[in-house]
Amino acid sequence: MIEPCTACALSKTRRNVVWGVGPPNPRFLFVGQAPGKSEDLYGAPFIGRSGQLLRRLLRVADISLKTIYITNVLKCYPPNNAEPTRDQIEACWSHLERQMRELACRDIVAVGGTAMVTLTRYLGFPPVKTGIIKSAGRWLNHEDTRIFGIVHPSFALRKPEARWDLEYQLKKLKRTAD
Ligand code: URA
Repeated sequence: MIEPCTACALSKTRRNVVWGVGPPNPRFLFVGQAPGKSEDLYGAPFIGRSGQLLRRLLRVADISLKTIYITNVLKCYPPNNAEPTRDQIEACWSHLERQMRELACRDIVAVGGTAMVTLTRYLGFPPVKTGIIKSAGRWLNHEDTRIFGIVHPSFALRKPEARWDLEYQLKKLKRTAD
């Protein structure tokens, strides 16, 4: 896509930059938190356990992978899956901004709280005052952009009852998008 990025220190520890996958004109842009270990190894987003759950529930919700682009707030693996820092997010934001422009996609799915907070903040949405559990499952609108939050699949892996929430949210995304 572009030359390897060295905008933050994660460039020293990552194996691969995980830019994203999907068609050039997606229906939705899914944005997660950051690549995990498997994603770092293979250079593709959401291919580990969280990704497998997300893909399974996307199928259940009848959202085809062929119609969505998947990426993350951070394009490089933070060792030990550490929470992205403000500086890392700031250093990486221009990549996500460029992806939104190039993909011409203004229907964005925030996968988890980090994506929700980052997207609303950088895109000028009113601050979301509740955590992702409460803000998930509905559209937030600002100018020409919409954000739909879902709980992160890693949370659903830790808390099995949250799988139903994630499934419900993805079905609602499909049902209410048009
Ligand atoms: N979790 C994320 O947020 N993104 C990935 O790509 C994998 C796990």
